Amino acid sequence: MLVVQKYGGTSVGDLERIQNVANRVSESVDEGHQVVVVVSAMSGETNKLVGYAEHYSDEPLRAEMDMLLSSGERVTSALLSIALNEMGYEARSMSGRRAGIVTDEFHTKARIESIDPEPMRQVLAAGKVIVVAGFQGVNDDGEVTTLGRGGSDLSAVAIAGALEADLCEIYTDVEGIYTTDPRIEPKAKKLDEISYDEMLELASLGAKVLQNRSVELAKKLNVNLVTRSSFSDAEGTLITKEENIMEAALVSGIALDRNQARVSLGGVIDRPGIASDIFGRLAENQVNIDMIIQTSSNDGTTNMDFTVPIGELNDAKRIVDAFIAAEEITSVSFDENICKVSIVGVGMKSHTGVAATAFSTMANENINITMISTSEIKVSMVIDEKYAELAVRSLHGAYKLDQ
Ligand code: ADP
Ligand code: ASP
Ligand code: MG
Repeated sequence: MLVVQKYGGTSVGDLERIQNVANRVSESVDEGHQVVVVVSAMSGETNKLVGYAEHYSDEPLRAEMDMLLSSGERVTSALLSIALNEMGYEARSMSGRRAGIVTDEFHTKARIESIDPEPMRQVLAAGKVIVVAGFQGVNDDGEVTTLGRGGSDLSAVAIAGALEADLCEIYTDVEGIYTTDPRIEPKAKKLDEISYDEMLELASLGAKVLQNRSVELAKKLNVNLVTRSSFSDAEGTLITKEENIMEAALVSGIALDRNQARVSLGGVIDRPGIASDIFGRLAENQVNIDMIIQTSSNDGTTNMDFTVPIGELNDAKRIVDAFIAAEEITSVSFDENICKVSIVGVGMKSHTGVAATAFSTMANENINITMISTSEIKVSMVIDEKYAELAVRSLHGAYKLDQ
């Protein structure tokens, strides 16, 4: 069997843990598998490097950020390879470039465009373990790019797809996908399986256990994806097609995203094409917009509110300022003290009253909802950040996810 195993930051968090990973990898080799390992930087390392850059600049050149941040993953890949070789298991580490990962030009959130599997195939054919530095690739000009925070998950899925691996295992610090973040609600239950679509919603709505683009790609390429713990032998959670799942739950999980800010535009000139202009500019600049609300028009102007990830707020500000300069928007304000709680489940497609339960749960806790959005399989609410954990726990109880 050809397996791709990805180990996250906590799993390679210190030298002993890297040795623990080496032991796990050696066991897979002993079982007769071909193994490609993808590693993250040691936990805290990427944030530390971001902090170093911020010492000099509020907006460092993104190409330089990629040079800097990609180094964390290269350190762990080399260390793991050294440990494996010392144990008598032939291994080679590879940067994203060496692993043939080509991306577009968007530094710090590049998308993978292609992977040339040949260099990896040759090393595997020579009977060696490959240890790829996650989270990175190169653009057409040969510059290093990174794939967005949490991007090693995407590296692993993309490599599994390119090599047509039998299995892609994501090793992390919890035993799988839970009904909600077990660090917020200790009563959260581990799921044996979850559909790609539900996992994609949970990941997009803040459950950082898997990066959302990795789930999207796993669905597209039909990669067998399992999330499990590097610290135990417990079986993890299988992420699979909806039709493979025995019993669809009404609600599968609750996600929390504290990383959102609200942008409120006042006095927006109400002409055909204005929304397309504003949100088109934001999209071109890779700003991820969600939950747009437009109020009814008054005197030829309207108000528009939307949410963006806090990390993209500076980009959003710059773009909105251009519309203010062009006198198409009068005012803008920002609120970072919000969060988004969401309930996700494929069962919602065929049941009514799911959203009503969410709203009444918030009402019972006296939590004010300021924005709402729904899709076929999710309901999201924006609330004051100080109620984040209370909201998650109450919803978890209201949908009986602890039973
Ligand atoms: P890694 O460093 O291995 O990539 P992450 O920190 O990115 O790990 O993701 C694992 C964390 O995701 C867990 O420690 C947990 O707190 C959090 N998490 C959030 N939502 C969930 C969920 N529904 N199920 C499991 N873990 C979750
Ligand atoms: N080290 C990177 C991050 O912290 C990528 C990853 O761990 O997946 O975001
Ligand atoms: Mg992660």
